[in-house]
Amino acid sequence: MAKCPARKKDGTPCTLDATHPDAKCWAHSSYTDEARRRGKVKGGKAKPGLARLAAIDRSLEDIASGVLAGTTDRARAAIAIQALNARIRLAATEVQVRSQTEVVATFEELERRLQEHRDPADPDHGSTYR
Ligand SMILES: [Zn+2]
Repeated sequence: MAKCPARKKDGTPCTLDATHPDAKCWAHSSYTDEARRRGKVKGGKAKPGLARLAAIDRSLEDIASGVLAGTTDRARAAIAIQALNARIRLAATEVQVRSQTEVVATFEELERRLQEHRDPADPDHGSTYR
């Protein structure tokens, strides 16, 4: 597959495959502008685990491109991929912990609202699970 003709921020040529209809990679294609913008906004805000996964994905893509092009040492690539695998597990755990924390917080909020709306004439209502 042809390489993306764009240049990276540091001025060096992009090493990714031109996978999009405008003959550019996902990082430079105008077809992915909107998704990249959304990803940055979300990643910068509340989803650091997901932003990390996206960064790891880019690193893996760069390593794979480098190995296939013969510009990246295979032994170094293997070690780098092992490190990236550990980071993937870490990010996945972070996402898992975050979502569990959100579920608990939502549950506590629902319980609090239920307490607020409890009918004084029926004190048992809402506190017993039948
Ligand atoms: Zn590119």
